[in-house]
Amino acid sequence: MRLTVIGTGYLGAVHAACMADIGHDVLGVDVDTEKIKALSEGRPPFYEPGLDDVLTSALASGRLRFTTSLREAAAHGEVHFICVGTPQQPGSQAADLRYVDAVVDGLVPYLPVSCLIVGKSTVPVGTTARLAARIERLAPEGVRAEVAWNPEFLREGFAVEDTLRPDRLVAGVTSREADETLRRVYAVMLEAGVPYISTDPNTAELVKVAANSFLATKISFINAMAEVCDAAGADVVTLADALGHDTRIGRRFLNAGLGFGGGCLPKDIRAFVARAQELGVGPAVNFLDEVDEINQHQRTRTAALARHLVGGDLTGRRVAVLGATFKPNSDDVRDSPALAVAAALHRQGADVRVHDPEGAANARRAHPELRCGSDLLEACQGAEIVLHLTEWGEYREVDPVKLARVVREPVLIDGRNALPHDEWRAAGWTVKALGRPAHS
Ligand code: NAD
Repeated sequence: MRLTVIGTGYLGAVHAACMADIGHDVLGVDVDTEKIKALSEGRPPFYEPGLDDVLTSALASGRLRFTTSLREAAAHGEVHFICVGTPQQPGSQAADLRYVDAVVDGLVPYLPVSCLIVGKSTVPVGTTARLAARIERLAPEGVRAEVAWNPEFLREGFAVEDTLRPDRLVAGVTSREADETLRRVYAVMLEAGVPYISTDPNTAELVKVAANSFLATKISFINAMAEVCDAAGADVVTLADALGHDTRIGRRFLNAGLGFGGGCLPKDIRAFVARAQELGVGPAVNFLDEVDEINQHQRTRTAALARHLVGGDLTGRRVAVLGATFKPNSDDVRDSPALAVAAALHRQGADVRVHDPEGAANARRAHPELRCGSDLLEACQGAEIVLHLTEWGEYREVDPVKLARVVREPVLIDGRNALPHDEWRAAGWTVKALGRPAHS
């Protein structure tokens, strides 16, 4: 099928490459000329495991091209996927839909024939219906452009795998034709047994924000428990393990630590609260404000713990931060908890050195005041405290004996509860983790 993928960021670039990989003829579109140049040359503009391979083979197959022209896209696609950003509006909790609207405005007047427009971006419930009216107004005489919503659930760090083998597909459609078209797009996945939930657009839009709200709530729940554990002298990891054996609860997303961040969860739960208020049901989801607040509090708590461990004053103290990205296996630093803590320590006078295997360049752009690099020993040289804030696999491989020789004081905060504390303690480190007694 001839598909266009409009917006080739973390979501769209992967979607475009994977759709070509399963046999479609794909045109990727973005307003960012640098990004389009890089993608056309087979260079992913961001770090995502496995993307370079799918991109290279899709380009070589001739089934994947990129452009900055929405007019070209209009001429190419039977199905147009919208994958542009829907960030938080400045000064508001609500989602900023200006990029989605701009795509519709730039695409629809040039559509030569009837087609299906499919939103994948995360949007407030009611967006499909609103866009349908806009599209009808803009479409050329005789052209019918139906709109559907097919929210995306991929995880950065596993984006290629999640796109090729999703755990479910959700299609919000208003006609049988639209449903059949989407089933044809995803035929390979459907044949492989991926569950396909066909529903109305409002429900489809809500599935995505509900899923993110649930995940965020689970993380904030365990982080709230961690704070109680700290006060009571209990161990949140054992607590989570014991809770997790209850199959109604499950162990995943119960890892206490610095909390969630990134370009999705925080802004999505805020936009959900804003939309629920517009719909007159704000109180139904007010708990998400609390979830957000608990999450932000972990950043303050971690910075305060670092200050406490260096004796109450961070001025001039050398601090090493391990991790800049919001999660491992990504270079994405949007709303990164690790960088938020690093910046807070810097504001309190600390001399902060941040290490990240893939995100250092993005971190420097986002926080020019911080020193960010990709040499771990250099970041830890002379440190009076080390904070482990993003759970990169390579940090678990660090030899605490060797690292102890490089730092000034062997003091560690494990903000992700992910390092082997016994080994670090045996190597002479003082280890503190959120929600855990001093000995665990
Ligand atoms: P992103 O910022 O990485 O990518 C958005 C892209 O859209 C950018 O490359 C930007 O240049 C481009 N763009 C903006 N306006 C455009 C226009 N008028 N025409 C063409 N291109 C335009 O964002 P992202 O992380 O890929 O997220 C995109 C959407 O997908 C958001 O709604 C997000 O919530 C949702 N989502 C993201 C993920 C994820 O893991 N990143 C997962 C699921 C859903």
